[in-house]
Amino acid sequence: MNQRPIVVAGGGAAGFFAAIVCAEASPGTKVTVLERSSQFLSKVRISGGGRCNVTHACYEGRELSSHYPRGGAALLGPFRVFQPQDTIAWFEARGVELKTEADGRMFPVSDSSQTIISCLVRAAQAAGVELFTNRGLEAVARRGEGGFSLTLTDGEALGCQRLMLATGGCRAAAAGGLAVSLGHTLEPPVPSLFTFHIAAPWLRELAGVSVESAEVSLPGFGLRERGAVLVTHTGLSGPAILRLSAWGARMLHGVDYRFLLRVNWLPHLGREAISAQLESRRAAQPARLVVNTPVPSLPARLWERLVLAAGVPRETRWAGLSRSGRHQLIEQVIGTELGVVGRSLNQEEFVTCGGVRLSEVNFKTMESRVCPGLYFGGELLDIDGLTGGYNFQAAWTTGWIAGRAMAGEVRS
Ligand SMILES: Cc1cc2nc3c(=O)[nH]c(=O)nc-3n(C[C@H](O)[C@H](O)[C@H](O)COP(=O)(O)OP(=O)(O)OC[C@H]3O[C@@H](n4cnc5c(N)ncnc54)[C@H](O)[C@@H]3O)c2cc1C
Repeated sequence: MNQRPIVVAGGGAAGFFAAIVCAEASPGTKVTVLERSSQFLSKVRISGGGRCNVTHACYEGRELSSHYPRGGAALLGPFRVFQPQDTIAWFEARGVELKTEADGRMFPVSDSSQTIISCLVRAAQAAGVELFTNRGLEAVARRGEGGFSLTLTDGEALGCQRLMLATGGCRAAAAGGLAVSLGHTLEPPVPSLFTFHIAAPWLRELAGVSVESAEVSLPGFGLRERGAVLVTHTGLSGPAILRLSAWGARMLHGVDYRFLLRVNWLPHLGREAISAQLESRRAAQPARLVVNTPVPSLPARLWERLVLAAGVPRETRWAGLSRSGRHQLIEQVIGTELGVVGRSLNQEEFVTCGGVRLSEVNFKTMESRVCPGLYFGGELLDIDGLTGGYNFQAAWTTGWIAGRAMAGEVRS
């Protein structure tokens, strides 16, 4: 049987990074990457709409870890070792400059994920990493004398001393089978970062309308987020909705994605301030139609729909808006209630919540506490971040720590 000191299963962000870091830290030690598909780094390629949102300009560990609905506490220590500053420096040292967008997301200045892929592949080759595509890890067994016996998808048998599993998110529980076969527990996988399906026809007619700062909340679940909201052909999307989907991932799965969503379209104004705005409209423009004169900062099409949804007839003029009509309108603006009936994958970025249970992994080394010599990294773990570069950062950080630890282990 062919022997290798270190094998990494999974040629994605975490596995590739770990292999490079390990090979650079321990020159002369052969590090092997096994990728099941025909391409390395395929998620990096499609990430961030083809631009790859590599990380986020957030450099304080506690603040950074607050962007992970699952795994934030476990990542606190690792972020002291490798955080976004280190990611920026790592890529810069290899000729890739990153830029920061207004919302903190960081991309290569080329705006192309190919830049990141080329950098990683070059670095792996330069460090002497042995790279295989179309060769997945099919099965693994612990050897009595230490190390692992591997069966590959092409039928070949391989032995190794250290094994890293970086096989990505378990969208189906079977994808975590290798970890389970070595004694690990999987937190059940469910999607995170999804958009909401809403049946209300009036909302769907507004597809394309966006509101810069709305507040969306799930009254039944105690969750609330503020930020941009976008109306789509199927319902609602945008950063605030994606954050809500991430924090509520498990609970919303539990109710089969059927729940009540409340939207406050003007959260920065209280009920009183909105009431004052309506009053000043009535005084200044009594003869204008209510549907045609939106309050500032609300898109005209949305305003029209909110007026009608409040039960105010289309022909109502400001002078004729009754007290109860005004009350209904305010309630509609600050608390539109929408029935969510399902979800869609967000095209820009999605991840799986769930994966290898974190208490079974030592986050100083990313080594298994259950099976010595076994390491983990990336989305296979029960870690997932909000949209904005946090998921790749978790892959770089855990990959870095696993790579260094595997190199150290082999040297000692
Ligand atoms: C459309 C989309 C866009 C995204 N955009 C962003 C973004 O801009 N920023 C961000 O931070 N995050 C983004 N993400 C999330 C990010 O891509 C993942 O969190 C990240 O790729 C996880 O890295 P990983 O190495 O753990 O897993 P992956 O990148 O999924 O890599 C795992 C690899 O393992 C291989 N594999 C699986 N099983 C085996 C096996 N048995 N043997 C060998 N190989 C195996 C797979 O083929 C795959 O290549 C996006 C996700 C999607 C789906």
